[in-house]
Amino acid sequence: MDLALSAEAVTYRDQLRAWVSEHLPEQWRDVPVGTGDDEAYVAMRREWGRMLHRGGWLAPHWPVARGGRGLGVDAQLAFLDVLVAAGAPEQMNTNGMGIFAPALMAFGTEAQQDRYLGPMLAHDDIWCQGFSEPGAGSDLAGLATRAVPDGDRFVVSGQKVWTSYALFAQRCYLMVRVAGVPDGVTMVVLHMDRPGVTVRPLRNITGTSEFCEVFLDEVTVDADDVVGGIGDGWRVATYALARERSTGLAQRALQLSRELELMNARLHRDGHADDVLVDAFVRSRAVDSTVRRVLATVAD
Ligand SMILES: Cc1cc2nc3c(=O)[nH]c(=O)nc-3n(C[C@H](O)[C@H](O)[C@H](O)COP(=O)(O)OP(=O)(O)OC[C@H]3O[C@@H](n4cnc5c(N)ncnc54)[C@H](O)[C@@H]3O)c2cc1C
Repeated sequence: MDLALSAEAVTYRDQLRAWVSEHLPEQWRDVPVGTGDDEAYVAMRREWGRMLHRGGWLAPHWPVARGGRGLGVDAQLAFLDVLVAAGAPEQMNTNGMGIFAPALMAFGTEAQQDRYLGPMLAHDDIWCQGFSEPGAGSDLAGLATRAVPDGDRFVVSGQKVWTSYALFAQRCYLMVRVAGVPDGVTMVVLHMDRPGVTVRPLRNITGTSEFCEVFLDEVTVDADDVVGGIGDGWRVATYALARERSTGLAQRALQLSRELELMNARLHRDGHADDVLVDAFVRSRAVDSTVRRVLATVAD
């Protein structure tokens, strides 16, 4: 696939750039990633997502029927380029929109897509990812969270860890092992407000708490919240993760390049370039190029 911008993507990019320069509040520009008070930071990102949604700018590559513009993935990359160049914060729901939504569109039922995609785009539902466990990180195949079938529902117990923004999330795409089914790894949608869900933030070295532990104690998941079929969890997860490693990372790599440039400018007002920062900058550009190449291979 050719990632050069189509004429439609160029028009979209130029209109978005004009809109951002008019609507992005000055105090939201170049806020360092993941700093400051968590709640205020998340609230800013959520409100920015809502503003972009109301303006009709989010997810230009989604189908029109789902709230997008029906453009190509080149328009989504243009979106990231414009926002990062303006120093805009990352909108809040990248986990849902960037990672899970493509899998939901590929494997979810029409009813599931109707139920979840609209509130996700509007930033009414913030999503988190429930994959990693204390005994299952790189070795995700060791996941032990159990879902026991019980009529038209499952009863889920277990523990997740490193769950980004779980403290603020309304929904979680959760990998479970269905009891009594060989190879029963399955993707389900968890409603975070159900009884039995406990979220504990993990404070990291910067003093913020993006990561959380999520404890699940006999939590009910509805049977019609299984995405794909029972035992299809790997297929759904690898599809979603291919997207995580593409557009999501492109935004982070672009933001990192910009922060390194700003840092260098602050340190060296005479225009001198710091070797360490230049090295990090080149690496961040290499990551950006790599994820664009990955995107070209996974884009439909
Ligand atoms: C910024 C960030 C956000 C994240 N957000 C989420 C999230 O929202 N939801 C979620 O579910 N997870 C999330 N994760 C977790 C992440 O995706 C990984 O699953 C997790 O970090 C890896 O598991 P672990 O920490 O237990 O490390 P381990 O799996 O214990 O690995 C520790 C080290 O051992 C190495 N290692 C492991 N196995 C082998 C092997 N067989 N051979 C050689 N070396 C090996 C690894 O490369 C690593 O260096 C996030 C991680 C990061 C960094």
